[in-house]
Amino acid sequence: MIPAVFIDKDGTLIEDVPYNVDPTKIKLSPGAIEGLLSLQEAGYKLIVITNQSGVAHGYFQESALFAVEERLRQLLAAEGVYLTGFYYCPHHPDGVVPEFAIACNCRKPAPGLLLRATSEHNIDLRSSWFVGDILNDVEAGLCVGCKTILLDNGNETEWDLSPMRTPGFIVTDLVEAAQVILSVDIGMTSRRPQTVNLGLHNQSLATQAINSQFFT
Ligand SMILES: [Mg+2]
Ligand SMILES: [Zn+2]
Repeated sequence: MIPAVFIDKDGTLIEDVPYNVDPTKIKLSPGAIEGLLSLQEAGYKLIVITNQSGVAHGYFQESALFAVEERLRQLLAAEGVYLTGFYYCPHHPDGVVPEFAIACNCRKPAPGLLLRATSEHNIDLRSSWFVGDILNDVEAGLCVGCKTILLDNGNETEWDLSPMRTPGFIVTDLVEAAQVILSVDIGMTSRRPQTVNLGLHNQSLATQAINSQFFT
């Protein structure tokens, strides 16, 4: 079985443009290539896990997501980064497109996409990670036994840090996320991430407690 890093798309892997499916507006997040290359070289499968409720809301067709996936794969492959999988949830319980307006088991924080990816790619969840920019990503990862990292880029606003929504680590970009993963799993980085920018978006003691487990 193989370790994976599951990665949220909007606001994590790419810059967040709400409900965008225009391939020309897809821009990788700062540090995405550097971070993902180091993870790939260390043997992790890279798998995108994304909620795409715009399908259920009728903002775009499900088929528009094929072009999104294609563009994303192009941008990454141009720098030598290869995605093992791209999984999306097209549903939303309040959607207007009947086919997709359901309470599914794959919209994060539900774990359906993670479980599907795991069985299709022989992933070892216990040695895998979920990296996302909101606590729904963290909850999805935790409920299947992954370690979790939150990118604190301002996209989470509610900070419901209940036990099943408390990330293992909080960082600012995918370079730092990769450094944490490699440090924790295999001690591959000789130095710890220099900054965690505690309190950039969130001053809570919980955040500091989370990071102090690692950065002291
Ligand atoms: Mg996101
Ligand atoms: Zn779904």
